Amino acid sequence: MPTDASAEFSVFKRRESEARSYCRGFDTVFTRARGSELTDAKDRSYIDFLAGCSSLNYGHNDPDMKQALIDHIASDGLAHGLDLHTDAKAAFLDAFETHILKPRGMDHKVMFTGPTGANAVEAAMKLARKATGRTNVIAFTNGFHGVTLGALAATGNGYHRGGAGTTLNGVTRMPYDGYFAGSCDTADFLEAMLTDRSSGVDAPAAILLETVQGEGGLNAASETWLKRVAQLAKDHGALLIVDDIQAGCGRTGTFFSFEKMGLTPDIVTLAKSISGFGLPMALTLVRPEHDVFGPAEHNGTFRGNTHAFVTARVAIEKFWSDDRFQARLAEKSALIGDRLADLAAIVPGGKIKGRGMMLGVDVGTGALAADICARAFDKGLMIETSGNEGQIVKVLAPLTTSEATLNKGLDILLSAANAALDAPERIAAE
Ligand SMILES: *Cc1c(COP(=O)(O)O)cnc(C)c1O
Repeated sequence: MPTDASAEFSVFKRRESEARSYCRGFDTVFTRARGSELTDAKDRSYIDFLAGCSSLNYGHNDPDMKQALIDHIASDGLAHGLDLHTDAKAAFLDAFETHILKPRGMDHKVMFTGPTGANAVEAAMKLARKATGRTNVIAFTNGFHGVTLGALAATGNGYHRGGAGTTLNGVTRMPYDGYFAGSCDTADFLEAMLTDRSSGVDAPAAILLETVQGEGGLNAASETWLKRVAQLAKDHGALLIVDDIQAGCGRTGTFFSFEKMGLTPDIVTLAKSISGFGLPMALTLVRPEHDVFGPAEHNGTFRGNTHAFVTARVAIEKFWSDDRFQARLAEKSALIGDRLADLAAIVPGGKIKGRGMMLGVDVGTGALAADICARAFDKGLMIETSGNEGQIVKVLAPLTTSEATLNKGLDILLSAANAALDAPERIAAE
């Protein structure tokens, strides 16, 4: 392995598309990863508070998932299986039914879509449109649902929308919970728009939302708001789609982000951490009465990533077959919350955002957030920003991160924030 990463890996700048993104902020060459740490070509290690944007909720290379995958490959188990019946898919579906769906009283069918989150969202939007015979989908300010054209229409972010190169339609945007910071109940607003036949909003096929907006700035909707929106969907003949791609798989403290809220979405999308191992896998859960696609009407070559089924089955059995893992999430969330309160206290106007293990601090400006993250990376912590101006420093540590490593990472984050606030450029600007 070359030791001088910058010289030997100039290939990235020379050949990789300008569309590359995360690699620009974490400019080194990673070679190995285990648990909550990554190692680069210079043998430096980094604590991972990014976790593949919550695709690695159980950390890197979980030993049990890794062994199951090695065994599967060594015995010539299928790698690719279209959507054929395979032993690995059966085992995943059995585990998912037994440990996730049944205990939560969910009768949803599991639709395997193409392997990315956007694929699951596209399937969800198409299903809702076909099931209701309507086209309009209600989505919310600062929602993020992926960047394929259908999903991008529902995504709020102007930069991402700007890349579309065509009109994005079929979606009506409504203000999310708290959009007017207390001066307007946005559920009342939504109700008025849906009830007034002359509001200009067509009867929706679906209301699509994240319960905590991952990319949009860790805005967490209240239980009251979510219940009202769910009821409005029902009253107006629209399906409720919860996009749990980032907030699901334990990230908010329970397997689904809506579990404790007394609502049952008609459709749920999962991707990111569903494979458990960081392998591409996505699915759309749908109530049986809305499971209306004919055979292959919505298809895709890579709906049977058998390697992902193997690791996903292990993830479900290992972490979700009893309450022990979930109980620890509440403790870790409290720890992160306490330390982030210290961070919020040193930043003028700093505010804690999010819920569960999806927490962050609004530091006011994207420039300060980026500076904090860059300084953290220099000191061995990978952490990213989110929000409409990138003004939220966002902690997405693997859920399996030990308390010692969480504290170590949070120590780095606090000292990075202190250094950024003390920087001469910043003091001069004030
Ligand atoms: C990441 C994400 C998506 C898109 O998933 P991709 O795998 O990047 O296509 C959709 N919705 C939410 C909430 C996400 O966080």
